[in-house]
Amino acid sequence: MVHVTINGRPLCFERPFSILEALRSLDINVPSLCHDPRVKPYGACRLCVIQVKGAPRPLTACTTLLADGMEIETHPLEIERLRRTMLTLLARNYPEQHVAQWPEKEFHRLLNNYRLTCGNGRDRLPAASDDSHPYIHIDMSRCIDCYRCVRICDEVQGQCVWRLWNRGNSTQIRPDSGATLRESSCVSCGACVDACPTGALEDKSLLSLGSPTRWTRTTCSYCGTGCELYAGTRNDRIVSIKPALDAPVSRGHLCVKGRYAFEFVYARDRVLRPMIRTKGNWKEVTWDEAIQFTAHHFQRMIDRYGPDAIGVLGSARATNEENYLAQKFARVVLGTNNIDCCARVCHAPSAAALKSMLGTGAATNSFADIEKAQAILLCGANATENHPIIGARIKQAALGGAKLVVIDPRQIELAQYASCHLQLRPGTNVPLLNAMASTIIEEGLCDTEFLDRRASGWGQFCKSIAAWTAERAAQICGVNARLIRMAARLYATQKPAICFHGLGTTEHVQGTEGVMCLVNLALLTGNLGKPGTGVNPLRGQNNVQGAAHMGCDPRYLTGSVPIAEANDVWRNLWDVPVPSNPGLNLIEMMQAADRGTLRGLWAIGYDVYLTNPNSQFTANALRKMDCVVVQDMFLNETAREFGTVFLPAACSFEKDGTFMNSERRVQRVRKVIEPPGQAKADWQIICDVAKAMGHESQFCYSSPEEIWNEIRSVWKAGAGISYPRLEKQGLQWPCPSEDHAGTEILHASGPQIALRTVEYQPSCEAPSNQFPFTLVTGRTLYQFNAGTMTMRTENATLLPGDFLHIAPEDARKLNLADQERVRMRSHYAQATLPIRIDPSIEAGSLFATFHTAEVFLNALTTPNADLYTNTPEYKITAVQVEKL
Ligand code: SF4
Repeated sequence: MVHVTINGRPLCFERPFSILEALRSLDINVPSLCHDPRVKPYGACRLCVIQVKGAPRPLTACTTLLADGMEIETHPLEIERLRRTMLTLLARNYPEQHVAQWPEKEFHRLLNNYRLTCGNGRDRLPAASDDSHPYIHIDMSRCIDCYRCVRICDEVQGQCVWRLWNRGNSTQIRPDSGATLRESSCVSCGACVDACPTGALEDKSLLSLGSPTRWTRTTCSYCGTGCELYAGTRNDRIVSIKPALDAPVSRGHLCVKGRYAFEFVYARDRVLRPMIRTKGNWKEVTWDEAIQFTAHHFQRMIDRYGPDAIGVLGSARATNEENYLAQKFARVVLGTNNIDCCARVCHAPSAAALKSMLGTGAATNSFADIEKAQAILLCGANATENHPIIGARIKQAALGGAKLVVIDPRQIELAQYASCHLQLRPGTNVPLLNAMASTIIEEGLCDTEFLDRRASGWGQFCKSIAAWTAERAAQICGVNARLIRMAARLYATQKPAICFHGLGTTEHVQGTEGVMCLVNLALLTGNLGKPGTGVNPLRGQNNVQGAAHMGCDPRYLTGSVPIAEANDVWRNLWDVPVPSNPGLNLIEMMQAADRGTLRGLWAIGYDVYLTNPNSQFTANALRKMDCVVVQDMFLNETAREFGTVFLPAACSFEKDGTFMNSERRVQRVRKVIEPPGQAKADWQIICDVAKAMGHESQFCYSSPEEIWNEIRSVWKAGAGISYPRLEKQGLQWPCPSEDHAGTEILHASGPQIALRTVEYQPSCEAPSNQFPFTLVTGRTLYQFNAGTMTMRTENATLLPGDFLHIAPEDARKLNLADQERVRMRSHYAQATLPIRIDPSIEAGSLFATFHTAEVFLNALTTPNADLYTNTPEYKITAVQVEKL
């Protein structure tokens, strides 16, 4: 406890934080220009000076910690005079017109509060104005050298783009390129813009559309990190987005997608009215016609072929409430368990492995554990590109001294910060992780106390894993045995150690088993159930965890309840028994359609044709169906080629609900603007079709909150997560009651967990003389999955399409120049695309993104799949490359 007196008022604080933080918590307004709560205190502008009794001179409140007995005065006359002097110096050369033009900027507000006028700016150095970046305007005539842009880029994003050029009075802040921002290493996160107190760095959208008049807090609709943000609107139009400073995951930071990629909302090709295809042509119809048409076709298929002739795909882009309704529709209205979502093509192996070994198919820990860990194992996850906020936090942790072990076939950005990078051959995670386990045992690095208490099968595991020496794995993985041992030692000895994994672990034939190997490592080293530990999948899409957890899974109901365990609670709630027939997953649905037994599909927010592997097979399957209902914002490739009905959906800015992020956190999605045209929220459309099929009473909801309350009534672990509580903050399940604080760390106690020996099974898709390269596919920072949203924003100028990344050595052999177009062939199809010569790629490997229909990369990918979950093996395709 710290007892102090502030402006004559005795006060008591629980922890010794800075005087400025204390003053801000009391709403005592002390000015500051160089301070930003997201970066270290700097004390340069000296506006936050205060008087502390007994101190020989005024102290800066941002850099001085509260100490017991302090007597603080914040606004005595001499201190105010000092502030005025400091501001006068800053204003002397500052162009007056900026203050008049942007009175709301922090610096300009202060000048107005102190009634100071500016100089004319004539004595300033010629300042750079730079319009090269699609989102950020730079006008350095407004720079007051507070260095907030420099510091936030260094300390939060870790990109270090802004540099000080020249010395003394000639010092200027410029991008690392020395020229334009566009040519620099900027990753467009906008943190510098957000920190700038004058508008020297400014969002172009604000300049063209005006300042927001209203801010609405909501959750980012891109990746599974779950950043919270404020969407700023003016005249019911989104004009800006800024990060929420108090968000537990993003902590006042966003990436380029969350911060800037919102213009898709206003894309010209957004579908605004329902449509039905007749004789090959789309025709706009009324909602009533579209709903009746859909209901009629579904009913006719049920009558003719039975309920299992139809499949429904929920959406990782839709809310928990909407996914709950999608699976309820499948089970209650259609009477089938043919319901799935895109978790099938990404992290179903994580859920399967974690559920089967630990009992819960979700991340064991929280993102807050990143900073608590001494070691971070990153396996098959390119976090700075795909989960940029988590990537930035991992980078900062490594810069701060945490040991980082990266397992990835590519030299990803985080590999530069790693103590150890295991650049393995694609598809060899299992032998590598087995060898790490074997090394840990061989070198006596196990946590035997933890193993005795929490693990079983230890003796048997030791015997079977002993064969996996680092040398044996090195042969298979193409990694030096010394590095494998080093990684094992780091993970086992630098405690606590946390593990994050991504699709480089799961999208393999041994995807589930790869995650099991990670659980083995956590068990051997006691890195489970404690702060800074655990096994944590980085989920790809904003609500993919939620979509599956709400029951968009053929084997599980809401809350991961197996179908076989559906009891009277469900029957009473839904008024019908839960169908007992085993359902089909997404891949099985396509196989059934190809056989002619699945006749209809409702794809909600899911471009199944573009994103499924081996797209020719998917095309054949979709072509054979009687009715394909597509619900989306845009006429996606599935709709364009195979759609029968198109139902225009609202995006996440246009509706209320909740998302669930990678760390089991349920967060509010709030309506920011009205949907355009006749677009409707997914939950309303599902209810309309259900009602048209005679299920009025089971699908009568007035709001997403009402749906959520129904979910809570059957999902025990989420029972305590109410909308009123979510108004204040997101909550992590399990949260069984309204007085429960939520659970940051799973498995702190519990039953013994069995170690699982996993034997290596190589992919059957091996390179050959005909197809000598191994293609790995993935996402990039600027684009997102099928590109539906990001390709309709200025992100398309930052990364205009799909590229094939090739090692310099291979490019030389094939006589290819950077950007040159090539034809790439696999066993299944071919595609043409430009190359990028990329030294981060090993010779013999290739990497390509799959964002555009022009390239249609998934035409090339294989039908191979994870042995447990059918998750496609997107990460290995044998291909050949030829110069065009
Ligand atoms: Fe959105 Fe993910 Fe970027 Fe956060 S890291 S802003 S959730 S895309």
